[in-house]
Amino acid sequence: TVGMNAQEIGKIIHREPAEIVKKLFMLGIMVNQNISLDKDTIELLAEDYGIKAEEKQEVNVSDIDKFFEEEEENTDYQESRAPVVTIMGHVDHGKTTLLDYLRNSHITAGEAGGITQAIGAYQLKRNGKTITFLDTPGHAAFTAMRARGADITDITVLVVAADDGVMPQTVEAIDHAKAAKTPIIVAINKIDKPGANPNHVIEQLANYELIPEDWGGDTIFVEISAKMGTNVDELLDMILLQSDVMELQANPKQHAAGSVIEARLDRGRGPVATLLVQQGTMHVGDPIVVGDTFGRVRTMNNEKGIELDAAKPSTPIEITGLNDVPEAGDRFVVFDDEKTARAAGEERAKEAQMEERKKNNSVTLDNLFESL
Ligand code: GDP
Ligand code: MG
Repeated sequence: TVGMNAQEIGKIIHREPAEIVKKLFMLGIMVNQNISLDKDTIELLAEDYGIKAEEKQEVNVSDIDKFFEEEEENTDYQESRAPVVTIMGHVDHGKTTLLDYLRNSHITAGEAGGITQAIGAYQLKRNGKTITFLDTPGHAAFTAMRARGADITDITVLVVAADDGVMPQTVEAIDHAKAAKTPIIVAINKIDKPGANPNHVIEQLANYELIPEDWGGDTIFVEISAKMGTNVDELLDMILLQSDVMELQANPKQHAAGSVIEARLDRGRGPVATLLVQQGTMHVGDPIVVGDTFGRVRTMNNEKGIELDAAKPSTPIEITGLNDVPEAGDRFVVFDDEKTARAAGEERAKEAQMEERKKNNSVTLDNLFESL
């Protein structure tokens, strides 16, 4: 099999690994017995031993990434979707207070009584329009997700306390948003406080090219009190306005694809993952590959614990049914059948293991001759 090392091959053809390493050396290939071998090398080796190497039929890992991209870019049919919003800012400037206020003040009648769970994301409605909020635990998680290619945020709300002004993590947040190319809406918070000085914040942010329209720029600023709820609805209106301009769309009529927001192992339910559907519609029972894990969607619920049969683009969902715990920022794709999903998942897990092994086994002359 492609990716096997000399030790594994030795076992199959009943030879000492050192003998295989030596043979490869004679053939001009310098490896130690723990290095995984590519297809050409294995064929060469097999030929030398007078054995025919047959390639096992496997799902190619790169195909899955291609598959994700195709699902992502399938634009035959498009519907508008809700904006995905991340709230960022310096510690203690009011991110949690704002998220909590939004969560508690925008519960619709039908949902009352539903216990809100911390699944890392939630949706709310304003004038019939939906907004998805990501409850990022911190900048580190956001960075990790971005590093893994998961730019899932459409709009960044930058919270700056009016009594404290621009601070190091404010600048960090601006850098993140700019790198991810998401528009920034500035929420100047704590305007209820006696020491609040919103104009000072506006002056400071001008150094970062964030200039309000009144001052000749094009950044939306809203002055709020997350604690009192002052102007929070105006902030939501501004998010919806920004979102309208962006004309956010997705195709719900295809296999679901998207990203992992967070995942954990639950004692009773096994691996539990919060996913953001970015394309397609997810259904209970769908065969799925999530990062290096796979399975079938056994249960699917929203942040209120309400069971869903189907989830469209921009919907955060919590699912069970995976064989293992994926990582934040991992991508997921729904497959036609469980067999292919399993093969793809296993292939990805193996690939990840091999990457790990490669990292730990770089060839040096020393360990090469040791193994000879
Ligand atoms: P985070 O670190 O950005 O999540 O900040 P928190 O939401 O935890 O807020 C830090 C502190 O500021 C808490 O004591 C909040 O009660 C307080 N706070 C947040 N928003 C406001 C506000 O609008 N007005 C006032 N007076 N206090 C606020
Ligand atoms: Mg907080």
